[in-house]
Amino acid sequence: MTDSAARHGFETRAIHAGQEPDPHTGSVIVPIYQTSTFAQDGVGGLRAGGYEYSRTANPTRTALEECLASLEGGRHALAFASGMAASDITLRTLVRPGDHVIIPDDAYGGTFRLVDKVLSQWGVEHTPVHLSDVDAVRAAVRPETKAIWVETPTNPLLGIADIAALAGIAHDAEARLVVDNTFATPYLQSPLGLGADIVLHSTTKYLGGHSDVVGGALITSDDELHEKFAFLRNAAGSVPGPFDSWLTLRGLKTLAVRMDRHSDNAERVVEALVSHPKVTRVYYPGLVEHAGHEVAAKQMRRFGGMVSFTVAGGEQAALDVCAGTKLFTLAESLGGIESLIEHPGKMTHASTAGSALQVPDDLVRLSVGIESADDLVEDLLIALG
Ligand SMILES: *Cc1c(COP(=O)(O)O)cnc(C)c1O
Repeated sequence: MTDSAARHGFETRAIHAGQEPDPHTGSVIVPIYQTSTFAQDGVGGLRAGGYEYSRTANPTRTALEECLASLEGGRHALAFASGMAASDITLRTLVRPGDHVIIPDDAYGGTFRLVDKVLSQWGVEHTPVHLSDVDAVRAAVRPETKAIWVETPTNPLLGIADIAALAGIAHDAEARLVVDNTFATPYLQSPLGLGADIVLHSTTKYLGGHSDVVGGALITSDDELHEKFAFLRNAAGSVPGPFDSWLTLRGLKTLAVRMDRHSDNAERVVEALVSHPKVTRVYYPGLVEHAGHEVAAKQMRRFGGMVSFTVAGGEQAALDVCAGTKLFTLAESLGGIESLIEHPGKMTHASTAGSALQVPDDLVRLSVGIESADDLVEDLLIALG
C-alpha cells in the first residue's frame, strides 16, 4: 500500500490498498498473475517485486495481502488456501509438544477437530472454555498455555467474548491471543486494536463474500510472528492460487457496503422472528436481551448477518423450517450475498453430538444475505407457517 492510502477510510482502502494500476499496461484492476515462476536477469537477479516462485510469493496474492493488512489495521498479512490452512499454520507456529491452548467451548468444528484430533497426536493439550466467562478463561490458563483462541461472535449461538479482557489475560500469561474474525469481518470489529496478536479469517465467508472461493488469512503487526508464519507457509505450501487470490481481492472491494446491508437485513429478520409465536428464542448480539450485547456494542460497529433461533416443536419443527424456505437456500457455509439456512445439529455441528459442544436440536441458523429484506422476511414467515 502506498503511504498516502494508510490514512484513508475503510471503504477507500478496501478498493485501493495494495492496488495500483498495472505499471506495464495501465490495467486498473490487479491482473491475475497465473504463473508458477518468474524470469531472472542472471542467477539471483530477481526483477521488480523480487518474485521468484509462486509458492513463496505471487503479485496477485501480494495485492490481496496488502489490502487485508490495511483493512485489519495490521502491518502484515498472509493469504492461505483455506481458513483451516491459516489455523494450521498459526497453531504449528505457536505450540510445541507439551504446550496447551485454550479454545472456545463452541469453537468452529474444523478448529476443534484440528486441535482435538491432530495436534493432540503431537502432545498438545487443549481446554474448551466458555469465553464469555472471563474468570473461567483466567482459571484455565496453565504455565504451558501458549495461545488463547477466540471466536466472537461464535457459531452458531452468537456468543460474545470480550477481546480486550482476554488479551489482558493472554499477555499476563505470556501467551498469544488469536481472534478468528470470520463472523465479524474487519468492517465490524478490529481485534488488533483491542490487543489481539493475530487475526485469522476464513476468507471463504464474508471477505470473499460471493460463495465462489475458499481461502484464509492471517494478519499481525508482530514482525517476528509474521516471519515465522511466512516461513512455515512456504515450507508447508498451503497457499491460494492467483485466481483465488484475485476473487478474494475482488470481494474485499465491496465488503463495507455488503456488511451494512447484511446487518440491515439481519435486523429486519430478527424483528420478524422475535415477535413470531413459533419462535422460542432468537440469538443475535444486537438484541439488548442477548447476554453479550453490552460487550458486542462496545467492540463491534454493527452486529452482522448471522442469526440463529429455536422453534417450538423440537427438532422436527426446526428441520421443517429449513425445508420450507425458498429464498434461503439449505446449505452449509455463510457470509455470501445469498441467504442460507441450515440445521446446525444435523449439518455444520453434527460432529459435536454427545460432546460439551453439542447444540440445541431445535436450532436453526441463518446467514442473512443482501437480497430484498421484504422478500427474506416473507420467505421465513411462510416457512414458519
Ligand atoms: C469456515 C470457518 C473456518 C474454516 O475456514 P475454511 O475456509 O472453510 O477452511 C474457520 N473459522 C470460522 C469461524 C469459519 O466460519
